[in-house]
Amino acid sequence: MNRLLLASLFAAMALQFPAQAAGRIRVMLLDGESGGPYHAWRLTTPVLKKELEDTGLFQVDVVTAPPAGGDFSAFKPEFGNYQEIVMNYDAPDERWPDALKSSFESFVRGGGGLVVVHAADNAFGAWGAFNQMIGIGGWRGRTEKTGPFWYFKEGKLTSDDTPGRAGNHGNRVPFAVTIQDSNHPITKGLPHVWMHQGDELYNSLRGPGENMTVLATAYSDPSNHGTGRDEPILMVLKYGKGRVFHTTLGHDINAMSCVGFMVTLQRGAEWAATGKVTQKIPAVFPTADVVSYRTDIAAMDPNYKYGLNALSNPPGRGGMGMGRGRGPMMMPMRPNPPAAPGAPPPPQN
Ligand code: ZN
Repeated sequence: MNRLLLASLFAAMALQFPAQAAGRIRVMLLDGESGGPYHAWRLTTPVLKKELEDTGLFQVDVVTAPPAGGDFSAFKPEFGNYQEIVMNYDAPDERWPDALKSSFESFVRGGGGLVVVHAADNAFGAWGAFNQMIGIGGWRGRTEKTGPFWYFKEGKLTSDDTPGRAGNHGNRVPFAVTIQDSNHPITKGLPHVWMHQGDELYNSLRGPGENMTVLATAYSDPSNHGTGRDEPILMVLKYGKGRVFHTTLGHDINAMSCVGFMVTLQRGAEWAATGKVTQKIPAVFPTADVVSYRTDIAAMDPNYKYGLNALSNPPGRGGMGMGRGRGPMMMPMRPNPPAAPGAPPPPQN
């Protein structure tokens, strides 16, 4: 056997076994409920799992909570068997029994990592400890009682006590993400500004915002139902000894196929578990002008065949669970009460 053949054999083995399972970060990927069919967790969980495991750094187990109306008496996830929880989960306050909530709190307070993806920051609107962990959130009854609005103003994180409901976004379009803290391990070396693939740009999030560092923001454009503010997009927080990484990106598979989403998720998850980031930034990372996404991941969406970029529903496809063939922008119902008359409510969260 010549040396070249041997080398390619080892390379093939390395591809097959990217890392020793024993040395990998143990991740619980929690799913099981969302605010509506537009957050298709059964489809997005395999994407999150693949993006994490592709690094060779993580061993991901999916834990699926019972659905609404399900029996939670036997649902006792072994948080202690994991270094971190990645939340692709959004349920109302009353869903979890108190014992489950305190077990989750103890895990993070005791040093467990937590990664909050997109609508996971809608979950548990009135659970105080959860709002402290995520810093800011939207929908599910959040108001000024949850905490102020937080956004960047003149280059500084600012809180705003104006009363009102929390959570809004415009139509899904690509938008620029601006790094506000390039010294953090998660963002070190990323381009100062990079284009994110079509996604919801969350705005008007509110919460205690304690021990929170905003790593990146995006301008919420008033011409697309935005606030005219630089809204928090990537955040890190401390909760007790636990580290939290919170990304508001990732509405659907299309958004998750963005290399910017993927890389910040991978780096954020490593940091939340270990406090360090060892991953290199890929050469295909998006730039200030160029969106970059993974076609293999985008194709994990069963609707990929109807068009690469399902930013609006093309004629003939209809909204999920809605009528068909009624043209673009047919959106499914949303779980929150509509905004005041005159204000265009967002179609979903
Ligand atoms: Zn969403």
